[in-house]
This record gives sequence, structure tokens and C-alpha cells, in this order.
Amino acid sequence: MSFEFNVRISYTGFVSQTKFSRIRNRLISWYLKNRRDLPWRRTRDPYAILIAETMLQQTQVQTVLPYYRRFLHAFPTVEALDRASKEKVLALWSGLGYYRRAENLKRAARIMTRGHGGKIAREFDALRALPGIGPYTAGALMSIAFNRPYPALDGNARRVLTRLFGAKGEKELHTIASRLVACARPGQWNQALMELGATICVAQDPRCPLCPLRRFCAAWGSRRSLRKKPFVTKPSVEKVQWPLVVIQKKQKVLLRRRPAAALLGGLWEVPGGERKKGESLTAALTRHLNGLGDIVNDSHLVGEVRHSITHRRIRAPVFLAFQPGKEIHPGPGWRWVPLSSLRRYPLSSLSLKAIKLVQR
Ligand code: SF4
Repeated sequence: MSFEFNVRISYTGFVSQTKFSRIRNRLISWYLKNRRDLPWRRTRDPYAILIAETMLQQTQVQTVLPYYRRFLHAFPTVEALDRASKEKVLALWSGLGYYRRAENLKRAARIMTRGHGGKIAREFDALRALPGIGPYTAGALMSIAFNRPYPALDGNARRVLTRLFGAKGEKELHTIASRLVACARPGQWNQALMELGATICVAQDPRCPLCPLRRFCAAWGSRRSLRKKPFVTKPSVEKVQWPLVVIQKKQKVLLRRRPAAALLGGLWEVPGGERKKGESLTAALTRHLNGLGDIVNDSHLVGEVRHSITHRRIRAPVFLAFQPGKEIHPGPGWRWVPLSSLRRYPLSSLSLKAIKLVQR
């Protein structure tokens, strides 16, 4: 006699273990045939997986690829990352954005070197205790690197499960995810789920006719508003104007370093800052430039770059000024940097865009 263990789900009613296993088998087979060939999928090294998962937070796969290779080449182990200077780590992160991730990785490397013998912890709670590791990253590591049945719910996985089961709310989503991952290949299952969300069950206009789970899908079955993103409450967007001035002298550019205690502390940037309401662009620039107002007067507008950080949409008018005569030195934390050496400096993404604009 066999028993089926059913799970109560609000939209679909009870879901049987048989249905869970059909969904699982079908999706894993699809994944094995259709997955993108990505370097972090060719390794079981928990450190490499941690680097990939951290970089992939809020960043597209194509953007991450070169950074992942360079970072692992420079810091192939937890100890190597721990030994590296913060400046070098940030320099290799430069352009990837959300620099807090790099800082957290560095702090986690210190803890792992001192407390775990340079190894990635193999327990969920120990992983969660490390800086920057939330439930998603811990679940991804536990399942992908250590083959343990922990859910890894990123935005893609959440969207697929919500549509597939009509799940309502966090608790239900976790019940479903925990049931589904309880199998012999939890890492493959989690990756398959995320891959389906990234390539087929996308937020806008999901490609349902190509979906291997179509016949199990509550949303497809009822053709419920598939164009809507589930569980997404749009944060209010703040629009900001942030004038910058690229000050050049021959083949050098004047940069300043953000104070260590400030947000994105330690990063280098093109001088400038947020414009206040009612202020002109040049008045805002002058205010942010520590007495370099004369340079602002001699600058000219070359264009605009845009950047988004979480809920802030930044428009940055970019001015260009050439410094005549001797190099000025506005104070500690400022430096003339040869354009050919920029790669060695951890530059904010906005500054990189501004420099690229003027070089064009
Ligand atoms: S059928 Fe459509 S909505 Fe349902 S899981 Fe597949 S792609 Fe997503």
C-alpha cells in the first residue's frame, strides 16, 4: 500500500507528491537539454559559486561573465581574497555596481579564513551568519555546491512558482519550494527553476507555448493576467540630477576618493554631486567641488549619462574642463590619474560612464 502526501495550496487545492515529482522530472530534463553554458555551472567549487551568486544579484548574466572570470583569476581562493587589498577588490568590481557586495565578500573571506580554515561553511545557518549572505544565496550554495535540499528563491524562481501554483504569499511559496527541492538533485532543480524564469517564464510576455510545465500551470490554465509581475510592489522612483565634471590635463583625469565611512566608501569618482531643487547645474557643481569653481566656469557640457541605483534614477549632465598650467591639488583624497591606469582604480559606475562619454 502506498500513501500520497498532499500539500494544501490555496489556489490549486491539494497538490499530490506525484504531481510534484512530474513537474520536477520534466523541468530537470528540459534544463539538462536547454541550459545556457555558464562558467559557474561547470564547477562545484563553493567559493566560485559564492562569487557568481553574489555578482548575479541585481546584475545581468552577460554583464557578470567577464567580471567573474577576472575576479576568480585574481582571487582564486577564500584566502587570496582575504589577503587582497580592499582597493584591488573594488577595482576588479569597478563597473559592476552595488559595491557593498564586494565589501561583504571581503569581510566574509576574513571570517572564513579565521573561523572556517579558509573553507566555505557547509551549514545553512553558518552561511547566513556571513556578511551579505541572505536566504537566497545560502540556499543556492547549500543546494548547488553541497547538494542539500534547500530552496533558492530568487525573483525568477518566485515568479515561476507563483504562476505555476497560483501561490499566494511568502509562506505558501516556501511550502511549495521546500517540497519541490526535496529530491535527489536539489541543486539541479533550483537551477532549472531559475533558468525557466530567466528564459521562458519571463516577467513580461512569458513564452508559454515553449514551456515544459505548461500543462501543470495554474496561470496558463486560467489564462490569468500573465503580463502582471506577481508579488512586485513597485518602489517609488526618485529622480535625481547629478552634474559631473571631467577635469583633464593631457592624458590624465582628476579623481577624488570617497571617504571610507561614506556610502561606497573607498571608491574613486569624477567630482560632482546631487543638484538641489532650484539650483543651477553649475552652482551645484561648484558647491560639490571644494573651491574649484573657476574650473566649472571654464567647462562645457558634453552630454548626459544615466544610471539607476535601487530606486534612484540618476541623470548626470557631464561637463568637460581642461586644466591649464600646473596640476592643481585640491586636497587629500584627490589624484591625477593617467587614463591608461584607470582600470587599476575602483571607479563608481556613474564615473566610468562619464569618462567614456568624454573619451568618445
Ligand atoms: S506556462 Fe507560462 S506562466 Fe506557466 S510556468 Fe510556463 S511560462 Fe510560466
